[in-house]
Amino acid sequence: MTEEKLSIIEALKTICEDLFSKRVISRVLAFTEGEIKEIPVVSLITNPEGLKGLKWDESCNKPLAKLLLGLKPKTAIIARPYDARAVVMYINENQLKRDDVFIIGVGKDASDFPVFDAFAKDPSPLQSAREPSPSRGSLDFFLAEIDRCILCYACRQACWGCYCPSCFMERGIPDWTPAGVGREAKIAFHLGRTMHLAGRCVECGGCKTACPSGVNLKYLIDSLTQMCYEEYGHKAGMEEGARDPLSDYRCDDGQPGFLE
Ligand code: SF4
Ligand code: SF4
Repeated sequence: MTEEKLSIIEALKTICEDLFSKRVISRVLAFTEGEIKEIPVVSLITNPEGLKGLKWDESCNKPLAKLLLGLKPKTAIIARPYDARAVVMYINENQLKRDDVFIIGVGKDASDFPVFDAFAKDPSPLQSAREPSPSRGSLDFFLAEIDRCILCYACRQACWGCYCPSCFMERGIPDWTPAGVGREAKIAFHLGRTMHLAGRCVECGGCKTACPSGVNLKYLIDSLTQMCYEEYGHKAGMEEGARDPLSDYRCDDGQPGFLE
């Protein structure tokens, strides 16, 4: 680990120790060293002793904010910009209370965070898993990607926006989806997931990284994200109190398409 990253870890420990000692927080959601050096463990640290194994390097790239859902207050999260965006999205969707979470942002510039309570500067911040998607896929491209999908749902599990206790794909009543794991079921899943993420993607790229088959259908969600921004000026998790286009319908809304 570089000197730079070690000094960030020290800065994070100092912030957390101070928060524990002042009883501002009761736990910290963070990455710690695991048994295998390259694989960090997601940990809920409940006392200053637990901060010893704190880890912060390129391997710490799993979604953390989703784990805040259901945790007791007050939990601190060591957050990259898109973790903070996810927290804001959860607050706006009434899944979290702002007072129940303490956001320790780590990044190049505090202005990259929609919200934070403490900040540690990282001159060379960890890269997100975000990668450019193809601009628009043809039907042939789409079907070729669909055919590579094995319907394992890892993309859904990795996604901040997919937190329903039971996904529409697994609900029997009403049964929205074709049975089996054929093309129809896969198309239903991917188009359904895309629509459910309208204006709700925090652009972390986790879904693409999580896919064991290298499926590249994120361009669908990217198209919808772009369309929501152009039509409604909305981006997920950028503003406390903002409502996403899915829950803010008006009769005079435009009827744009997002696929060509
Ligand atoms: S890039 Fe968007 S759709 Fe993919 S996991 Fe992140 S939030 Fe979810
Ligand atoms: S992670 Fe990949 S293979 Fe699994 S459901 Fe998603 S797109 Fe399909």
